[in-house]
Amino acid sequence: MAKANTTPIKISVDRLVACTHCGLCLPTCPTYRELGLEMDSPRGRLYLIRAVDEERLPANDSFAKYTYRCLDCRACETACPSGVHFGQLIEEARALYEEHNRRPLSVRLLRKFVFEWLFPYPRRINMLFNLLWFYQKSGLRWFARNLGILKLMGSTGKMEALLPELPAPWERKKIRGIISAQGERRYRVGFFTGCVMNTVFTPTNLATIRVLVANGCELVIPGNQNCCGALNIHSGEREAASRMARRNIRAFESLDLDAIVVNAAGCGATLKEYPELLAHDPEYAERAETFSNKVKDISEFLVGIEMSTPEGEIRKRVTYDEPCHLVHAQKIHDPPRQMIHKIPGIDFVELRESEWCCGSAGIYNILQPEISAQILERKIKYIQDTEAEIVLTGNPGCLLQIQMGIRQHQLPIRVMHPIDLLDAAYRKKEI
Ligand code: SF4
Ligand code: SF4
Repeated sequence: MAKANTTPIKISVDRLVACTHCGLCLPTCPTYRELGLEMDSPRGRLYLIRAVDEERLPANDSFAKYTYRCLDCRACETACPSGVHFGQLIEEARALYEEHNRRPLSVRLLRKFVFEWLFPYPRRINMLFNLLWFYQKSGLRWFARNLGILKLMGSTGKMEALLPELPAPWERKKIRGIISAQGERRYRVGFFTGCVMNTVFTPTNLATIRVLVANGCELVIPGNQNCCGALNIHSGEREAASRMARRNIRAFESLDLDAIVVNAAGCGATLKEYPELLAHDPEYAERAETFSNKVKDISEFLVGIEMSTPEGEIRKRVTYDEPCHLVHAQKIHDPPRQMIHKIPGIDFVELRESEWCCGSAGIYNILQPEISAQILERKIKYIQDTEAEIVLTGNPGCLLQIQMGIRQHQLPIRVMHPIDLLDAAYRKKEI
């Protein structure tokens, strides 16, 4: 049954027919490698989407099984010689399923809570993380873990296991308003803070501010920005994501900015793809283009402005894992490495299969825990092989997932955002 009051979902057929079925994407697909089924490969999924679009097959639960088993990592896009924009197709396919099917009441309520009541409202997200911080600090966590309560809570309990120690709520209050450049102002830059980055990785957002300010940027951090909408889009909730996109465009468009900087790969990819999301909105299509043209990943921005060299040395063996939404969705491969190499003293070692997904993929690790665990296992093995003391990655989901793998294996390896290491070098701080 179709949902009421929403724009009908259409698959971008021009993108779908670009596939020549050559199969060159198959060896790069993590789910195909793990499961060995054509239906779990990019080509198989494209066949399926086309069959549903041409009404040869229904958009039923089997369709959902294979479209949701995709990580949306977009490694297939990088491999594809025909330029098939797989990410958009899989996201439209999921939206098509959601439009034509009615999930059980409990799932509908949960999705409504998360996608429509929580994510679009930064204050509510802040409130939730304040409560979680209290839960961690007050001893409630000890009871929940030791009395086995989390095991009874299913996927919510699994999410709890992913959470690192949360920063104090008052730290977040420093991330707003206008922050002056150090020395002469070279650029006026907007900072997209992200919801998970701002609540779980507050110190990384503070480090990002310090690094930009040290490089002559005046920062503008509008308080009326909201979540980018990535998780909504990945879950087929394009209407709610479109509303969030419009709000972000309004929050930044009149600020006279040279760039809008973001330090989370997943958010950056989503912000850059707002024109695609709002292509059929006559009021916002052009504004989305203007907005997205200004969005830059922090590494892309710093390398582009010829960042200064930090004075502090960091004598550590370091490796780098590439977030899928940086390397495959945004095609940003060199800038994070160039940024890391700016740090004096670093002993950098490349990670085997650094461009392969870690299994996080938004909330994939919660929805598909077995496949995600298999993918993570391989990642941790290759990280171990580097003998690195620090693994760097620039996306909150990847940070949480790799931290979890490192914890499970009890390895003496730190997992950090590259900007945290760079900030430490600027401040000549011990790591
Ligand atoms: S997005 Fe990733 S998991 Fe999905 S089909 Fe492409 S390579 Fe495979
Ligand atoms: S998506 Fe691209 S690489 Fe994969 S089968 Fe189609 S044309 Fe070939």
